Amino acid sequence: MTTDAAATNQAMDEALDAAIAQAAQILASARHTVALTGAGLSVESGIPHFRGKGGLWTKHGEPPLDGFQRFLRDPCKAWQERLSPSEPWLVALVEALSRARPNAGHRALAELERLGCCDCVITQNIDDLHRQAGTQRLLEIHGNHRLLRCLDCVTRFAPEEVAVDPEKLPPQCPRCGGVVKGDTVQFGEPIPPDVLRGCTEETARADCMLVAGTSATVYPAAEFPFEVLRGGGSVIEVNPEPTELTGVATLSLQGPGGAVLERLLQQVTELRAERAS
Ligand SMILES: [Zn+2]
Repeated sequence: MTTDAAATNQAMDEALDAAIAQAAQILASARHTVALTGAGLSVESGIPHFRGKGGLWTKHGEPPLDGFQRFLRDPCKAWQERLSPSEPWLVALVEALSRARPNAGHRALAELERLGCCDCVITQNIDDLHRQAGTQRLLEIHGNHRLLRCLDCVTRFAPEEVAVDPEKLPPQCPRCGGVVKGDTVQFGEPIPPDVLRGCTEETARADCMLVAGTSATVYPAAEFPFEVLRGGGSVIEVNPEPTELTGVATLSLQGPGGAVLERLLQQVTELRAERAS
């Protein structure tokens, strides 16, 4: 590295540190903070992107856009594919999901919740990593790949709670007898109403939103940060690249999610210790 490049890097580091310190002030003073996370946060855990360079769908082809309608037409066939996936992108995803562990970003958000500085995590990810990191109040917009959900009563079940007989598919809901499918929201499937309601309520209450690892361009998540800004709240963005949110966010922390959130947690912890003393 040349001396110039090293100096530029150091200046960038200092600017990022200053921005993280400012973000910590906002977080420590906020009444109600909601984190909104997306695929970028799980890249460091080895979960591949779907689209873009090296994305699962870019490599293997996109799944049909009417996956949910196909499920409704033939739930038995859809369940057979779930039990023994044959689509190459799905095989690759299942493998990545089984290997993935929470990273520093997931852990920092769980710790911020424990400190009382993160009231809820809304995630677009299906990977279960927030749960594994210990986040309690979690809204999974696109579901959770490990869970099952009844299409009638919207109860979610751990896999061991539902008897799955390959000879008698689809399995039935132990509560109401309805059709059970995987909790992951498929193309063409509406966001489950309880989750959508939760997101709306949490966003309405939030005076601070921490957006990490998502360009927030997909409905309904795209609306949440703007909703907070319209209500006079702050939006703090954490992303390695600039996004559509960068120009309007209160603060934009440009760097890898794990490292930035870890430093943010550190600053919040120090700030709270100072305030308490
Ligand atoms: Zn049910």
